[in-house]
Amino acid sequence: MGGALPFDNSYARLPERFYAKLPPTPVKAPQLLALNEALAEVLQLDPAWLRSEDGVAMLAGNAAPAGAEPLAMAYAGHQFGGWVPQLGDGRAILLGEIVGADGIRRDIQLKGSGPTPYSRRGDGRAAVGPVLREYLISEAMAALGVPTTRSLAAVATGEPVFRETPLPGAVLTRVARSHIRVGTFQFFYAREDVDGVRTLTDYALQRHEPETAAALADAPMAERAKALLDGVIRRQAALVAQWMAVGFIHGVMNTDNCAISGETIDYGPCAFMDHYDPATVFSSIDYQGRYAYGRQPAMLHWNLAQLATALLPVLGANEDSAIAAAQTTLDAYPAIMQQEYLHRFRAKVGISAQDDAEDHRLISEFLAALQADKSDFTLGFRALAQRLASDGDAGPSVRAWLPAWRARIESEGRGGAEIVATLQAANPARIPRNHRVEHALSAAAAGDMAPFETLRAALAQPYADATEAAEIDAPPRPEEKVLATFCGT
Ligand code: AMP
Ligand code: MG
Repeated sequence: MGGALPFDNSYARLPERFYAKLPPTPVKAPQLLALNEALAEVLQLDPAWLRSEDGVAMLAGNAAPAGAEPLAMAYAGHQFGGWVPQLGDGRAILLGEIVGADGIRRDIQLKGSGPTPYSRRGDGRAAVGPVLREYLISEAMAALGVPTTRSLAAVATGEPVFRETPLPGAVLTRVARSHIRVGTFQFFYAREDVDGVRTLTDYALQRHEPETAAALADAPMAERAKALLDGVIRRQAALVAQWMAVGFIHGVMNTDNCAISGETIDYGPCAFMDHYDPATVFSSIDYQGRYAYGRQPAMLHWNLAQLATALLPVLGANEDSAIAAAQTTLDAYPAIMQQEYLHRFRAKVGISAQDDAEDHRLISEFLAALQADKSDFTLGFRALAQRLASDGDAGPSVRAWLPAWRARIESEGRGGAEIVATLQAANPARIPRNHRVEHALSAAAAGDMAPFETLRAALAQPYADATEAAEIDAPPRPEEKVLATFCGT
């Protein structure tokens, strides 16, 4: 395979104002920290070549492979509700796209690859800690079955990055179905670039829903724009429902971190909840709790409203019809979100749909019981398979809830083994717990990758019962609790 990668770069063929073309900035002494061989194979890249000097040079940004057309994407966005007209890839370079063995087109992007015209005051670099954190958590999410960007490799640069203190630098190779964000649409809308919005809409629809794009090829633009908006609402609602179901808190649900693909993107101060509390926030920059666990569905609604706004120039033949289309499409969101949420949580308590309100009550009462008992979210759900037969070590509030739940399960008449299987498939035993992640990252910073490798291997099997990973599955002891996570920028 050598240095020529099977790139086919559709984004680079879009008009010039969509990006800035530039190569990554070389680094001093690249050294491979982690390589995702399974993902390499999906991309039809030879893991042995990726580990070679030439391969690592590419992953570090020191040598652009033949066929790459490196560029930084332009975008804008609302950050914590405040409008920022110009963001863009300030420390990332899209090398190009590869159509994988599965027929799926994916972006291959280097993150931490040096300054770009969008760097503003940043240095364009990333530190080892946040790079390995994104690697671990994104791959854990993939193993959990949650749509996400993936991590192909992490390479140490041999150069320091200067934050509060000097830290070792690294580059992450991120793989995504695309890097188009709500903020990408906002970039063109804010510039009153109607042609840009139109081109991006057609590109995004073609990329993420090729069948819809083909079916609507001769339809008015407004129909394709509405189809795109519908699709993003569906994908993002499904995504956030999955976050809720695994106790994931994104931490920075800004519109520039909200992907049109419906994948989780931009792992910064994200974290998984230990004990259940909907007000949980870890991000050290989220002073107001704007992006708390329980607020994520509402925050998604807000982001989708920004997307609908940015699409107004193409959603109708005139302003009135565009506003009407945006409103109707957006008004469908709460019900879609509710269904996605119920779909996930019904499975988590092992029931099938009977009555939305009744099911919601049963689920909410369980969550309230977990909260009252200060119980661990992940283990509380995982234990339900055992609680069919006995209360075990359940807390007092969960104990009080169990009889109604068992009666409901019984009324559905499914066999015990089937319900246990449903419960175990919906409730992971293993999540990337913050204290474990921190432990692995601090060891890595000191040059010891062993805890990272152990954790990575355990997180690849989130639904398997624990064996030697028991320590990895346990909630933190009080002194181990991680209280805040940092953006790592
Ligand atoms: P994030 O908070 O990581 O989603 O980043 C928000 C914006 O800041 C994006 O435009 C990033 O490209 C940019 N950015 C973050 N960190 C850096 C950095 N170290 N250098 C340059 N730009 C950065
Ligand atoms: Mg971002």
